[in-house]
Amino acid sequence: MRPTVRIPGIRLLHSPGPTRVPDEVVNAMARQPTDLADARLPLLIAACESGMKALLQTERAEVFFYAANGHGGWEAVIANLVAPGAAVLVPGTGHFSDGWAEQVEAFGGVAVRTPYREGFPIDPAAVEAALRDDAAHRIGAVFVVHTDTASGTTCDLAAIRRAIDAAKHPALFVVDVVASLAAAPFAMDALGANVAIGASQKGLMVHPGLAFVAADERAMAVARANPTPRFYWDWQRRQSDMSYRKFCGTPPLAHMAGLEAALGLIATEGLANVQARHARLARAVHAAVACWGEGGALRLFTQMPAARSVSVTAIEVSPGIDPEALRTVARERFQVAVAGGLGPLSGRVFRIGHLGDMNEAMILGCLAGVEAAMRVQGIACGLGVDAAIAALVDTTG
Ligand SMILES: *Cc1c(COP(=O)(O)O)cnc(C)c1O
Repeated sequence: MRPTVRIPGIRLLHSPGPTRVPDEVVNAMARQPTDLADARLPLLIAACESGMKALLQTERAEVFFYAANGHGGWEAVIANLVAPGAAVLVPGTGHFSDGWAEQVEAFGGVAVRTPYREGFPIDPAAVEAALRDDAAHRIGAVFVVHTDTASGTTCDLAAIRRAIDAAKHPALFVVDVVASLAAAPFAMDALGANVAIGASQKGLMVHPGLAFVAADERAMAVARANPTPRFYWDWQRRQSDMSYRKFCGTPPLAHMAGLEAALGLIATEGLANVQARHARLARAVHAAVACWGEGGALRLFTQMPAARSVSVTAIEVSPGIDPEALRTVARERFQVAVAGGLGPLSGRVFRIGHLGDMNEAMILGCLAGVEAAMRVQGIACGLGVDAAIAALVDTTG
């Protein structure tokens, strides 16, 4: 909707992506392009590569950047790793594992899926069973979504790694960290992940439009042996010191400058502090929702407390409550933008994003705006903002 009057102040953005872009990143992106032979360009690219490796906690993997969104990152992985007719295991976790599996199938790959149980994370036992069933080792990779952004559910990656090992299966371990990176702990090498995929507009706090893939030597070897025609996405073609080849053409200069600034902000705060802040703010949101739910109108969608995402919280509403109407009041009257339900959760949940450039005041403002909108809608709810304040004041958690 195009506003006809100026709205004073800021509108709080609590979508789980795109997220708020810090001023330092906005300013870094607001610059003129350089000539591609400028000596500062390789320095910028090198800073982004080394910063991403530090963030992913990998020394083994090589990082490739694409002028693309998260779906582009998915496609890069499929193009490099999945030959037509080849199989991958996509453990079910909700809307995003469904989407990735569909994309595999669109390229002629076979997506073996495990079912998902609403409100629960990926079941490592189902992963192990599916791999044991594949005695011929036709499955070349396991494509795991770390945080399903639609349900606000985060899986236990270490347990999934153990499941792959327990099945004695050689499949690559490929992890989508689009919604979790720089929010939840992720250490690529220690975990034994072969590939990680992400995008700029979530925990990385950059405008949408930049995707990355980190691939280790095992994944690179699988890609080299894969005869599928590809060009733009091809990892081998991008292994070059020439920026024009590294990006298969002109680099997205503004996004790279934004990423360099964002990585600097994360490094300055300290990754452990960034993760602790996400956990703290998520606890406040969960406390508010638990309190709102006392009247029976709504509840946390993710059942297992350990699986509740530190990036986004999905809130299930009781029949008769329209989450879209609630969102509209929150956005138009109280200047708080929260997200709706995706896919099968459409009309059943709304979602509060709490990742990226986020602090206590923003979370309390968001919760207050949502609570106010619930009152306008006549939805019976407890004093969630009070519960969130109590959770923030309590430093023992
Ligand atoms: C947002 C998201 C994607 C897709 O990213 P786009 O940039 O919207 O294409 C993929 N996976 C996860 C887990 C996401 O949260």
